[in-house]
This record gives sequence, C-alpha cells and structure tokens, in this order.
Amino acid sequence: MIPYGRQDIQPSDIAAVTKVLESDFLTQGPVITSFEKAVAEKVGAMHAVACNSATSALHLACLALDVGVGDVVWTSPNTFVASANCALYCGAEIDFVDIDPETFNMSVEALLKKLTAAEAAGRLPKVVIPVHFAGQSCDMAAIYDISLKFGFSIIEDASHAIGGQYRDSYVGRCCYSDITVFSFHPVKIITSAEGGMALTGAEGLANRLRRLRQHGITRDATEMVDEPHGGWYYEQVDLGFNYRMTELQAALGASQLLRLDDYVVRRAELAHKYDAELAQMTVHLPCEQIEVRSAWHLYVVRVDPVCRAKIFNALRSDGIGVNVHYIPVHLQPFYQRRGFVRGDFPVAEAYYASAISIPLFPGLTQEDQRYVVQRIARALDK
Ligand SMILES: *Cc1c(COP(=O)(O)O)cnc(C)c1O
Repeated sequence: MIPYGRQDIQPSDIAAVTKVLESDFLTQGPVITSFEKAVAEKVGAMHAVACNSATSALHLACLALDVGVGDVVWTSPNTFVASANCALYCGAEIDFVDIDPETFNMSVEALLKKLTAAEAAGRLPKVVIPVHFAGQSCDMAAIYDISLKFGFSIIEDASHAIGGQYRDSYVGRCCYSDITVFSFHPVKIITSAEGGMALTGAEGLANRLRRLRQHGITRDATEMVDEPHGGWYYEQVDLGFNYRMTELQAALGASQLLRLDDYVVRRAELAHKYDAELAQMTVHLPCEQIEVRSAWHLYVVRVDPVCRAKIFNALRSDGIGVNVHYIPVHLQPFYQRRGFVRGDFPVAEAYYASAISIPLFPGLTQEDQRYVVQRIARALDK
C-alpha cells in the first residue's frame, strides 16, 4: 500500500534518539529546550513551548488566552476534531465559520458576516482558530485586521503548515496571531512521534503556557504567592496538566527540523508534478494563493461527488492509501448532539463530498507517483 502520508526517518534521527537514551535525562532535560529554541529561531518566533501533542498545545493555548465557561471559540469545520475540542476542554462553546471554496480555509467573508451577526446578538467569540488546511496559510493579515475591530484573540492551528510561508515569513512567527500551534505527528511535515509546539511573541503567554504544561507549577519567585521557603520550593498557582514532551521526542524532532526546508521543497515538487500530470483529467486540483508558500501537507483532488466513493474504493483496491480530509467537524455525532445540523456549513459539506487526499510525502518515488497518476486516470475513466 502506498500511504497518503508517511514519516521519513534517517540514520541521523536514530542516532539522535539513541544518544538521549544513553544520557542522564529522558524527560525535562536540555534537548527539549534546544528543540524549542531551534523551532523558534527557524520560524522567527520569540517563544516556543514544546508539548506532548498539538492537541495539548491547542488546549494550553486556549487556557493561556483565558478561554473558559461562558466564552465562545470559532474555528473551521474543515479540520481535525482537535481544533474544536480544545475549546470544549475549557468549558467554552464552539462554533464554526464556513470555508472558502478555493482554499478550503476559513472564509474571511463568512467570518466578517458571522461576526457582524454575533455582535448584534452580543455573542462575539473570544478566540478564533484559523486552520492552515493542507499546509496553505489562511489570509492572516485580513483575519488579524478583523480581530482588531471585533476584539478576539487568534490561535493559528498550523498543524499542517510548519515550513510553509505567508507574506515572506514562516508560518509560526505570530505576526498576525497570539499563538501558533504545530503538530509533529508522523503524518505531518516533521515528526517527533507524538508531539506539538505552541509559539508566541508574548512573553506573558509563553510563561503561562509553560506553567500550564507542568501542573500549573512555578519555580519563579516572581510568580509565587509566598516567599520561597528554600531552594526546593515551588508553588502550584494554576490548575495545569502534564503535557510535557520527552527528551526522546525532542531529539527526533530537532533532528528532523534540520531537513524541514528540504521536505517542503520535495513536497512542492511532488505537488507540482501532480498539477502537471492531472491537469487534463476531470478532477479539480488544489491552488496556491499568491502570498502563500504551502508546506504541502496534503494534496487533495476533488471529483464529482456522485463518483467519489467509487474512485476512492478503486484506488484503495489498487493499493493506494487515499484518504479524505476532512469530514466536517460539525457532522460528527458528538457535535450533532450539541445541536449542529447538516446544512450549517454548506461549503465545507460540499467540499467534503468531493475530496480525496492522494499520496504525498518526501519518500514518494517517481515510480510510485507515476502509478498513482495512472490509476487515478483509470478510476476516472470507469
Ligand atoms: C494533526 C492535527 C491536530 C492534532 O495534532 P496531534 O499532534 O496529533 O495532537 C490538530 N489540528 C489539525 C488541523 C491536525 O491536522
């Protein structure tokens, strides 16, 4: 089976992880700190906080921005469920903004319209979480401008987009957001097995993220209620979690980070090869926006919804691990029980009915890609 995505592990990655196993620290050691510094430096962010997953990082990001009971958070329906669940973990309400039919990212137009209605109803969101679908950044300058008018904070869910760029900056620099979150799950651009990171330009937020990552405990006297009792002293000042990354994960992530740009270049090459090879077929191809350089996490083709299942099944029988990203979050049974119904976000639903993610990962060979293209042609012909 040719999967839709797959990690790339080199001998240098194995050596980096092995070295940690032979060291003094398996967790809470120096490698995590240097991985955080390396990612922050790479993307041009001031602060980085490594976590055991992007899901944890999203949860901490919401908490750091004071999301709680009575608050509303908005995200895109075309995402993995974690982008929405994080608000519910904090006791807040979640709602969605429909997507743009070209980019499949949150629609700026729909956002503005929904904000105007929410303002009239006195139910403005506290935080909006745009998701950089497939590795292509949302129109962050526009969303940021709107946030100034309506007073919400922004968390970029950049789980697909490390190494991608927007207006000549790497995604994660947080020029247009409070916090950006990366995922290092093995199907993403670089991996630490499980792992995620929250980046921010605000020192106060970075401190809160760090504290919440480790049980709400601080060892910084300036954050304490009491005078320190001695060198052993710490205080729990918030209700936090154990969302720490291990040294093993950080070593793998740091080793992979060295190849980040190569990975993105390779993914773009493969994507452009698909663009050329599939251009004459009866499929819609993804398109990159002018100010964006996608990290190309996914290559999604869209087909006639009537034939989608047939084409999907034909490709699966041909040994091609196609997938579908995403079933709109509001259509999940859990969210349906919370009152969302089919028809709430029609663009995301129409997109979902037609989408197929085809294999795209750095180790995809020319031969495999040729095979994928040939089988797509055959499946479309039938
Ligand atoms: C993968 C993913 C997540 C969750 O990442 P984990 O590291 O697996 O927790 C969140 N949001 C999006 C958009 C994702 O693709």
